[in-house]
Amino acid sequence: MGTDRKHNLALLMRLICAGGPVTRVELARRAGLSTVAVTNLVTELIEAGVVADLGAVPASGPGRPAGRVAAAHEGPVGLGLCFDVDYVAGYVVDLRGRPRHRELRRATLAGTEPAEAVRAARPVLRRLFEQAVTTDRLVAGVAVAVEGVIEHDRDGYPTVHRAPSLGWRDADLRALVERELAALGAHGVPVQIGGGAGYAAAAEDVEEGSALYVGGEAELGAVLVSAGAAHRGAAGAAGLLGHVPVRHRGRSCPCGLRGCLDAYAGRRAMAAAVGVGEGAVNRLLTGEDPFGRRLRAGQEAAAAAAELAAHRLADALAGPLAVLDPEVVVLGGRLAALGEPFAGPLRRRLADHHPWTLLRPGRRGPDAVLLGAARGALAEVLADPVGWADRAP
Ligand SMILES: [Zn+2]
Repeated sequence: MGTDRKHNLALLMRLICAGGPVTRVELARRAGLSTVAVTNLVTELIEAGVVADLGAVPASGPGRPAGRVAAAHEGPVGLGLCFDVDYVAGYVVDLRGRPRHRELRRATLAGTEPAEAVRAARPVLRRLFEQAVTTDRLVAGVAVAVEGVIEHDRDGYPTVHRAPSLGWRDADLRALVERELAALGAHGVPVQIGGGAGYAAAAEDVEEGSALYVGGEAELGAVLVSAGAAHRGAAGAAGLLGHVPVRHRGRSCPCGLRGCLDAYAGRRAMAAAVGVGEGAVNRLLTGEDPFGRRLRAGQEAAAAAAELAAHRLADALAGPLAVLDPEVVVLGGRLAALGEPFAGPLRRRLADHHPWTLLRPGRRGPDAVLLGAARGALAEVLADPVGWADRAP
């Protein structure tokens, strides 16, 4: 019984946070529960401070006026933090996953020690917390996205096994971030570490039964999303696709190997092909990626680089597609923003291997990794809203 209640609370919380104001009757219909059960459970969510009662609206037909509820505007927020080669950035998102605030700091992080990178993140973290606190919101957690292989031990403790673009190996990033938060006076705020593509995939709200999400920032990642959940793998390390070999004795890759997918379809490789800097800072500041601008303007070198990248990506995906047979390939983040000049050649090449697999752009826009991480920081609230509120300070 207790498990049912917890399951149903999480289900209602997810339905309420997925959209705008909704009536209890409509929630009951969507959840497949009785209106009485929903009314009781929603009362618990309101008392926990995560759902707001918006009061009755005049009924359009006969019967009692319908009372609507919505995710609490003043409810907890999640903080997402992303370390990339030349910046550290963060987002604050609300319960509905909508961005409330963004911070960005340029810093050369490639080749730095993790401790140094976390120090560079200090002003970003401070401003994100200030934003949450000045609006009187509780920070439910901080989720840090790193492009790399994140291992989780038996107890779920994460370690950055390797992050090739940053040059990190076996880094206890969680302890470093926790120390930084303690210095800001944010003691006990849970910190999670994950791969960028994993967070972005989890935030994608995939409605299909199964999807292979392909995205990432500096490096390419791919994660299977099945029944609404991103597959993390046995060690929680699934996701890094960028260093899968696609060419024997191919281009050299910063990871030390040759012929990696990233050497053709990674952000750095595509930018280098048109002679622009690889950073995402430009895009985060102006909303436009210099490579994407050249591609849309029809520049030949950009079109050739996009086609080559699309073909190499399709080759790298042939194995996962053959084995997993997902309904759809979701192209997320910066790849989706490249539009048809990239998606077209990819679709055609994928059709050679797997003609029934559909390809569609993601819904989270170019900042998918950052937004996904911030939403990930709210996972505990969404999974156990009442329990979370009981434990919250
Ligand atoms: Zn590599």
